Amino acid sequence: MCMCNRSMSRRDMMRGAVTLGTAAAVGGMELLRATPALAAVPNPSIASTSAWGARAASSAVSVLSYKPSYIVIHHTATSNTTATTQAAAYSLARSIQNYHMDSNGWIDTGQQFTVSRGGYAMEGRHRSLERLNLGTSFVRGAHVGAGNVNNEAIGIENEGLYTTATPPTALYDKLVNLCAYICDQYGLPATQIFGHRDFMATACPGNILYGMLPGLRSDVAAVLAGGNYSTVVDNATAGRFTASANWLTSSWSSQKNGADYRYANPVLASDTAWFKVNIPSAGNYMVDVWYPADPGYNTSTPYIVATSSGNQTVAVNQTTNGGSWRNIGTFNLAAGDYNVVGVSRWTSGTGYVIADAVRVRNS
Ligand SMILES: [Zn+2]
Repeated sequence: MCMCNRSMSRRDMMRGAVTLGTAAAVGGMELLRATPALAAVPNPSIASTSAWGARAASSAVSVLSYKPSYIVIHHTATSNTTATTQAAAYSLARSIQNYHMDSNGWIDTGQQFTVSRGGYAMEGRHRSLERLNLGTSFVRGAHVGAGNVNNEAIGIENEGLYTTATPPTALYDKLVNLCAYICDQYGLPATQIFGHRDFMATACPGNILYGMLPGLRSDVAAVLAGGNYSTVVDNATAGRFTASANWLTSSWSSQKNGADYRYANPVLASDTAWFKVNIPSAGNYMVDVWYPADPGYNTSTPYIVATSSGNQTVAVNQTTNGGSWRNIGTFNLAAGDYNVVGVSRWTSGTGYVIADAVRVRNS
């Protein structure tokens, strides 16, 4: 609470003094360390139109020579599919483009960006990504058929129908990161995020997702302030998972994250499967791991975290507590894009060791 305009009684002042004194005595160093450094907002790795195999636009897209002034959130109103792979995301992008060009008669995909239920961010209309990365202009979209919105805003389509359903965490997390990157590139405050229905009579983006917009704005604001970071790397995340051929692939367990997971027999040798994470700035981060549990898996699977002071190993019992995020601790990590979390085969336990997904966050 701000005290500037409040008259303080002597008792208030004494109480304040005592509190400050205690903090300084026991937490002085913590307070100093907790001061956040302003970090650049990480690029959320957006797949380009060429990556997902877009058709050429039927005529040249319009580049507007100024910055957008807000972001409009949509849902695609397609099914709430459980297909969460990169291939499924790219297929969605192609089908949206086909629909917008062949049925709506538009020159290209309507929106500038798309987020899939599996958490893949993709360029929609051609050149949207090129313009975003430059941060000084944007491509005119076709996503709000009212007023002057298409000349003012970036549109993001979120895969699914959110009238009664809640978006998957992977989608929401990516949407936060995408919005934060757009805001950072164009100098927009997080308050400049709206829903399609704010501009015209439409159910879009659904009551549930629309109701999440205040939370989205505050989550984006936190990222912009350098105070909030969360990213998920699955064994299927392109370019972010490496493992030897000894690590086999299975989609057997219903507790898996994404379409499948990797497993290997334990061996007394180093053969670590690694999850690569882009850490935006040096500091303390929480590490969560996700694995399907099974009585036949390992009771002491070694997770290795590459901390700023060397590797630390945490043993996790993968026979239980599967199918959800499980925190394995808080670690000091250096900034950079590197192998942050690994699953080692080096354990005396007998069951399979599992590498499925990791999440790194600072709140
Ligand atoms: Zn919409």
